[in-house]
Amino acid sequence: MDINLLIDTAKKAREHSYSPYSNYRVGCALLTKSGKIFSGCNIENDGIMSICAERVAFSKAISEGEKDFKCLLVLGGKEALEYTSPCGYCRQFMSEFCDKDFEIYMYYGDNKIEKRTLNELLPYSFNL
Ligand code: ZN
Repeated sequence: MDINLLIDTAKKAREHSYSPYSNYRVGCALLTKSGKIFSGCNIENDGIMSICAERVAFSKAISEGEKDFKCLLVLGGKEALEYTSPCGYCRQFMSEFCDKDFEIYMYYGDNKIEKRTLNELLPYSFNL
């Protein structure tokens, strides 16, 4: 896995962030087990619920037939000095499609990365 490629992909995606209300700009890169990368950015909306970068990337991948995911890298925030972790809604969303050992990299600051598994971020996920 080329972590720098994921970082570059997420940074490019963040450029497309539509966040006029919060100015909280987020980008992410989702790597499939087959080696494909799908990007996402957050998209805010004044009238209805906004969508996070993570769910954008998963939606793009799933709509193109991907179902096996290796890891996700997310970055962003107002100053990008602290890591941005997936929100609770995204964690639960990811648990539908990912194993407990799915890796989540939170990139921030000057090349700093926090790595957690999905299970560490969501130890008691809801599953039918
Ligand atoms: Zn989210």
